[in-house]
Amino acid sequence: MIDVYKINKLPTPFYYYDLGLLRKTISALKAESDKYGYRVHYALKANSNNEILTIIQQAGLGADCVSGNEVLRAVENKFSEIVFAGVGKTDEEISTAIDNNIFCFNCESVQEIVVINKIASEKRKVAPIALRINPNVNANTHKYITTGLEENKFGINLWELEELLEKLKRLSFVKLIGIHFHIGSQITDLSAFKSLCLKVNEIQSWFVSHKINLEHINVGGGLGVDYHKPDENAIPDFKSYFALFNQFLEVRPGQKIHFELGRAIVAQCGSLISKVLYIKNGINTNFIILDAGMTELIRPALYQSYHKIENLSNANEAQLPLQRYDVVGPICESSDCFAKALMLPETKRGDYFALRTTGAYSEVMASQYNLRNKAKAVYFE
Ligand SMILES: *Cc1c(COP(=O)(O)O)cnc(C)c1O
Repeated sequence: MIDVYKINKLPTPFYYYDLGLLRKTISALKAESDKYGYRVHYALKANSNNEILTIIQQAGLGADCVSGNEVLRAVENKFSEIVFAGVGKTDEEISTAIDNNIFCFNCESVQEIVVINKIASEKRKVAPIALRINPNVNANTHKYITTGLEENKFGINLWELEELLEKLKRLSFVKLIGIHFHIGSQITDLSAFKSLCLKVNEIQSWFVSHKINLEHINVGGGLGVDYHKPDENAIPDFKSYFALFNQFLEVRPGQKIHFELGRAIVAQCGSLISKVLYIKNGINTNFIILDAGMTELIRPALYQSYHKIENLSNANEAQLPLQRYDVVGPICESSDCFAKALMLPETKRGDYFALRTTGAYSEVMASQYNLRNKAKAVYFE
């Protein structure tokens, strides 16, 4: 539980980051991934604050970027081994990435590879590429964060590979060094990763039969976190996650295995801290109106996602009667609602609230809708 005395002078809403927990999470991740010689890239899109990137970079992780500006942010923060994915890389972004000698482009279409080849040729450079392949594996997560099905826009489909290889022979300013997959996010059922491994093994055999030796396989990210029990399960089960890949993925001699994790590294170290503006009576429920809304945390409105909500101000007042509340923000949208029919101890104007597990995909998705001010980040050890 966040200590209300540590925060009660700070203007709300703000993003609270527990850097101690971030460090512990990274150590646990490194301990497990190093066992197998796995290379982990941090997905900057989950949280790209420099304070957080510094800690992650110092731990020796690589970077996974999905825009030219993320590539630049990773370069500024001295990340080595930058990979760059995304279905819509612009010419300018490709150019930026080539100029910065990134480790690998994860390419999502044949047309994109032709464009990278052309831009690289103008710079007299050879761009390293991996093919992002759509494995048609279901991640069993929310449909908006499922990315590895044929109906999704991501990756190159299996039936395109034969023709693609033919084409690659004529493109001398790109070099194929690997294959890449990313099936979705907030994956809590590890059997989805087992299905991915089995599919990757099949695909790798196909490349071997075409006499192509892949220097690396990048299996993406997507490991989920426990939004319901952020204190009990503050650190994800990296042990089972990496052990599963070690068990099921067939690795060829000298081949490197890469991962791209975002949420699992940063989600639990963040909370959105907000103050109660008003309590308002409704027909079937009472409304707690917070000073934070979908502008600071859009995930509930966007994916019906759950964030644990705690009243920090009455945490020590045991046995307060429970009441039913809808917890909402101040924005002029009915979807600006964090929770419906939540049973909470009696709440009053001025109470501090924590919306937990907001280290990933929260501050990075903030908007200035309704001309709101941008909420600040505050770091604690
Ligand atoms: C978003 C993304 C990731 C990270 O996903 P998490 O669920 O945060 O681990 C990894 N790879 C690619 C290509 C992505 O787009």
